[in-house]
Amino acid sequence: MFKKFYPKKILRSVYSINFKKYYKMGFRGILFDIDNTLVPHGQKADERTVNFFKKLKNIGFKFCLISNNKEERVKPFADAVDAPYIYDAHKPAAKSYNAAMEIMGTDIEETIFIGDQVFTDVYGGNRINMYTILVRPMHPKEEIQIVLKRYLERIVMWKYARRDRKELRQENSQYNKRRLLALKNKEGKNS
Ligand SMILES: [Mg+2]
Repeated sequence: MFKKFYPKKILRSVYSINFKKYYKMGFRGILFDIDNTLVPHGQKADERTVNFFKKLKNIGFKFCLISNNKEERVKPFADAVDAPYIYDAHKPAAKSYNAAMEIMGTDIEETIFIGDQVFTDVYGGNRINMYTILVRPMHPKEEIQIVLKRYLERIVMWKYARRDRKELRQENSQYNKRRLLALKNKEGKNS
């Protein structure tokens, strides 16, 4: 029953992810949550964030910011890192995930979602069978409604941590095989 909340990967920070590896795996587009994923909640994009997106661009990735926050929060951030964006995204609703892929011109099999919340970011991606990465929230102090959700997240993560490692590896590898096959089929159709 918790499965739909499980990310494909849990990593410490977006800034320590080996993105070249994901490019080699066939991924071409990355969707990012903003608050507590790229910067602590409410903070501006800093030099590190700007350089981070430059690096992604150089690797060859397309990206899009997708936030449940208001335009006045999202637009200045997106402008600073030179990224397209969707505000008021109503994650976990699938609509914005699909709109973001349209902006990037990527298919679901080559798109990753990265965020810090299980019930919005990860669940939304999982619902449409997207590859999801959960990162640790950057700032420990959060709004009360998020604090409450964190308690529930802990229950999900407690379950996740107790899963059979072998089963987890097998599931991930099967998912990847299906993903690559779907990509290959699409390439065949397009050529
Ligand atoms: Mg967030």
